[in-house]
Amino acid sequence: MNNPRIAFLGLGLMGSGMANRLLSAGFPVAVFNRNPQKAAPFAAAVARVTNSPREAAAGVEVIISMLADDNAARAVWLGENGALAAAAPSTVLIESSTVTVGWIGELAAAAAARGCELLDAPVTGSKTHAAAGELCFLVGGTAVTLEKARPVLAAMSRAIVHLGPTGSGALLKLINNFLCGVQAASLAEALALIERSGLDRGKALEILTSGAPGSPLIKTLSARMTGPDYTPNFPLRLMAKDLAYASQEGRRHSLDLTTVATALEVFKKAIAAGHGDEDMSAVIEPLRKG
Ligand code: NAP
Repeated sequence: MNNPRIAFLGLGLMGSGMANRLLSAGFPVAVFNRNPQKAAPFAAAVARVTNSPREAAAGVEVIISMLADDNAARAVWLGENGALAAAAPSTVLIESSTVTVGWIGELAAAAAARGCELLDAPVTGSKTHAAAGELCFLVGGTAVTLEKARPVLAAMSRAIVHLGPTGSGALLKLINNFLCGVQAASLAEALALIERSGLDRGKALEILTSGAPGSPLIKTLSARMTGPDYTPNFPLRLMAKDLAYASQEGRRHSLDLTTVATALEVFKKAIAAGHGDEDMSAVIEPLRKG
């Protein structure tokens, strides 16, 4: 495909940065977002701003979605005025949202019925990486389809890893995020214990972040939790969603992921306390108040 026309569906924290990268790289891009206010600024960036996924998908060679969850993706791809209804045969569909392997299977079957090819290509990296074109794509699907999509993915990323058949990218992304969610929940508990016990917080965190527990995530989140700075890079409700999906994948493989279940409870308390739209670092707040 030479300079393919692209439809980009979902202009949230991640999707807006990704769509801007594609426009900067010179691709003709049509955009859609459920809340039209988030799409409006793209008119100035010479994108084709559309009123439905179906309108965005008409006449393009590549369709990419970056949506909240399975329900959002199902609505945008298969719902009334969904994108798939307008996809021409041979269109490459790229599902970059963090979703279940089950949904990827459903979308792959629907795509095949229309003669289209699907890649699951969720990402690691956050809002700043999306805006800078420094994401890492975790790809499931055929090598042939990936080669067609590679120039498009390259404009948004520093790395593209082909993991295997359809669903492989989605599964690794959920495993990646369950490790992050478990670390975030245990850091919240550790920091709450430090604060309540009267330990010197600065000295304690210096030891923990420079020692064995000091993963890149623990370093970033401990700074945000102590700030505190809860402006969303990764909304807390989305991490809860990923933990729930990872639990589901564990059950599909007869594995009871107990650390995931426990971390999810910590995240649910934060959502119940009104922190769902804040950054996931706000997971500590109920522990500070309880
Ligand atoms: P976000 O800012 O909350 O954006 C979510 C997007 O989904 C918005 O465009 C939203 O539209 C749309 N949406 C939600 N429900 C919908 C529905 N029922 N119908 C149609 N559209 C719907 O989230 P984000 O941070 O960009 O994340 C997007 C995806 O990337 C998620 O799967 C997330 O887990 C994953 N991810 C996020 C990060 C991160 O650091 N933020 C990193 C890696 C992966 P409206 O604007 O109309 O609500």
